[in-house]
Amino acid sequence: MPVPFESRRAPAYRDVPDEQWNNWRWQLSHRLNSAEEIGAIIELTDSERQALNTKGLFRVDITPYFISLIRPDDPNDPIRQQIIPRIEEMEAFTAMMEDSLAEDRHSPVPGLVHRYPDRVLMLVTTQCASYCRYCTRSRIVGDPAATFNRQEFELQLDYIRRTPQVRDVLLSGGDPLVLSPKILEELLSRLREIPHVEVLRIGTRVPVFLPMRVTDELTDMLQKYHPLWMNIHVNHPNEVTAELAQACDKLSRAGIPLGNQTVLMAGINDCVHIQRELVHRLVRIRVRPYYLYQADLVPGSGRFRTPMAKGIEIIEGLRGHTSGFAVPQYSIDAPGGGGKVTIQPNYVVSMSDHKIILRNFEGFISTYEEPTDYKPHDPKTCWYCQNKRPEPGQAGLTALLDGNDMFIKPEGFDDLRERSTLHHRLRDRESKWKPLGIGPGDSQED
Ligand SMILES: *Cc1c(COP(=O)(O)O)cnc(C)c1O
Repeated sequence: MPVPFESRRAPAYRDVPDEQWNNWRWQLSHRLNSAEEIGAIIELTDSERQALNTKGLFRVDITPYFISLIRPDDPNDPIRQQIIPRIEEMEAFTAMMEDSLAEDRHSPVPGLVHRYPDRVLMLVTTQCASYCRYCTRSRIVGDPAATFNRQEFELQLDYIRRTPQVRDVLLSGGDPLVLSPKILEELLSRLREIPHVEVLRIGTRVPVFLPMRVTDELTDMLQKYHPLWMNIHVNHPNEVTAELAQACDKLSRAGIPLGNQTVLMAGINDCVHIQRELVHRLVRIRVRPYYLYQADLVPGSGRFRTPMAKGIEIIEGLRGHTSGFAVPQYSIDAPGGGGKVTIQPNYVVSMSDHKIILRNFEGFISTYEEPTDYKPHDPKTCWYCQNKRPEPGQAGLTALLDGNDMFIKPEGFDDLRERSTLHHRLRDRESKWKPLGIGPGDSQED
């Protein structure tokens, strides 16, 4: 039997009866948010105390369960850093942006982000069980006044209903699992009524911040809306507790495939060995590591940012070294609305017309002999090619490979060509600007 996971309760909560401690409503209503309350559980540093007393700070709220996971004698505890503000988080950094992923620009209706061809991100609340200091959506999250109302839900549902290419709807926020159970069920059932919506997904940190919220009642409700997938958000092995394990077990038994999204953060998990322990603990509780994210360029994340090389080093230390299903995709959400771009170490060393040279995780270099008599797939006789799903304006490089398009033009490219034709008449006179040695007739004179 593997070592069982820990269960912790800060000494200040020793006398709380179990029925209360394990009640999610009690946990939510006893969240900590002031220097006095938090200082009663852990000894605050000057920087933390100063931040907690600053106006304009991104919202602080911590469940008693989650704050209990902090080792109080370590000022750099990985859980502490995720939820307790430090004054440095108010500092701006180069390239910092409120909305670094340009989500607002990709929102056809409030709270609905349609960035990719076949799926949408539906923001259903601005509220969470606790608040991460590096929140990618801190421009709206935490503010109860900014949350979405019934009328906006109708607009979101309406957009999805009249956009048939949407086959996957990802509920996020804020945290969908802090919505009132009635509203959450109503949203899920309304989405299920739309015939082209095949898959529903929930992105949530509730199992991590508030595992007692995952009740039998909740999983009974969720499993009525299959296929339903869920991604949780765990950053450090210390977050994998007996309580999280139990919540994930309930969700898995309800048939919900579980994934995990981790944010790569300096001083928290920027270490191959921490990441390896994290993914091992996750697969033990049947959660598949999905993405390892580079920190976004948003306010608050400055002190957590790492160079991209750190992410590559971590994947280098996982791929081949451990179970393939325990290796997440390292992903950078490209600023300006570029969307997720996955990055990995280079495994293709070189190639010729019939051979590829590959290196494995150990540095063993090998060759793969390619077929010289490959008969290409014939799209004309393939039903799937003939009936492929259109991706208007977003097919990208696949459209080049398909043979329909020859190029992708950067914005303004045609204007530039236009200018060249306008200047066509000047070309002879300006022949001295021609690069030297371009053809046999060129000379160095003139
Ligand atoms: C991350 C994200 C998705 C989902 O992306 P997957 O790679 O399919 O998990 C969808 N829409 C937006 C706007 C996103 O940021």
